[in-house]
Amino acid sequence: MSKLPATHEAEIGCDECFEELHIFAEMELKGKSPGDAMPLLKEHLDNCGECRQEYEALLEGIKALGNEDA
Ligand SMILES: [Zn+2]
Repeated sequence: MSKLPATHEAEIGCDECFEELHIFAEMELKGKSPGDAMPLLKEHLDNCGECRQEYEALLEGIKALGNEDA
């Protein structure tokens, strides 16, 4: 785990978003709360249509790969 630069709220860019997007999607699919664990990523998704699309495509891709529960 890397240390976060502390207090001041940092914004992330699309590159960082893409890097962690799969983690966010997996948490979502496992019924966890990725928005709580990764609020910056969630904020970026809310504000960035491109990453939002990428995220939804990723969700579909993971679902298609395997349904662990169900
Ligand atoms: Zn973006």
